[in-house]
Amino acid sequence: MIKKVGHTIQKLKPSLVPLVANEQSLKICKEMQGLSLKNVGIFLKDEENNKNIYEDFGEMLFTHFGVSGPTILSSSAHLLRYKDIEQKIKKNKIILEIDLKPGLSIEKLDNRVQRDFEKYKNREIRNSLQDLLPQKLILPVLKLSKINEDKKINSITKEERNNLVKTLKSFKIRIKDFRPIEEAIVTAGGASIKEINPKTMESKLVDGLYFAGEIIDVDGYTGGFNLQIAYSTGYTAGQ
Ligand SMILES: Cc1cc2nc3c(=O)[nH]c(=O)nc-3n(C[C@H](O)[C@H](O)[C@H](O)COP(=O)(O)OP(=O)(O)OC[C@H]3O[C@@H](n4cnc5c(N)ncnc54)[C@H](O)[C@@H]3O)c2cc1C
Repeated sequence: MIKKVGHTIQKLKPSLVPLVANEQSLKICKEMQGLSLKNVGIFLKDEENNKNIYEDFGEMLFTHFGVSGPTILSSSAHLLRYKDIEQKIKKNKIILEIDLKPGLSIEKLDNRVQRDFEKYKNREIRNSLQDLLPQKLILPVLKLSKINEDKKINSITKEERNNLVKTLKSFKIRIKDFRPIEEAIVTAGGASIKEINPKTMESKLVDGLYFAGEIIDVDGYTGGFNLQIAYSTGYTAGQ
């Protein structure tokens, strides 16, 4: 309707939306489906340019399609605006790194792992990481660290231990896609703000036409910003 009366529409895209893992990472996500992690560091990276796209700390969740939860939803808002994102995703260059132990440096974490190894030295490694990790994470972490899960702690090499520490600091999931717009919390894009008077929300092109809420090309993070946009623009237009 607004297009018909001459308004410009910025391309609609999903924002605040879960992310889909590629085939290789999907297996791992499925194994951990339902597992919610608190107090983790998340880093979205463009592997091609070795660039950090987004960095956050907080909660995330593994699902049957990939990853979700507050930090992931916020990261999606940055990812969708990243230059050439569609090509990067197609080329498998977007990677999510999860720091499972953000409070510990590599060195401190290594000391901690060594203490646990000492405590459980006669066990298989799969039965010795429960002080450090939730049960559902243990086998995927060992897989990514290339350590045989049945190996006895006292035969783990230094290289394997280093791999384990690296994986704990940087658990990698490759991103293949965004979930569809129907699952997005908010739509990015919409009626161009250039054609709307921000003091009244009236159209600059058509007298008596007012805009409010998500139809306008504005969107924010979770945390009430989108509701605030809807209320404030609605109030202004109403006045
Ligand atoms: C699952 C979910 C969780 C969210 N959580 C948050 C959050 O925590 N914090 C936050 O800030 N935002 C959140 N949002 C976003 C926020 O709800 C929206 O940005 C906000 O509600 C947009 O308000 P609106 O009035 O512009 O549009 P809407 O709330 O979508 O209202 C549009 C209304 O128009 C009606 N309508 C559509 N077409 C027609 C038609 N042709 N004729 C008559 N009526 C029509 C629709 O039925 C609807 O009632 C969430 C969204 C979703 C989906």
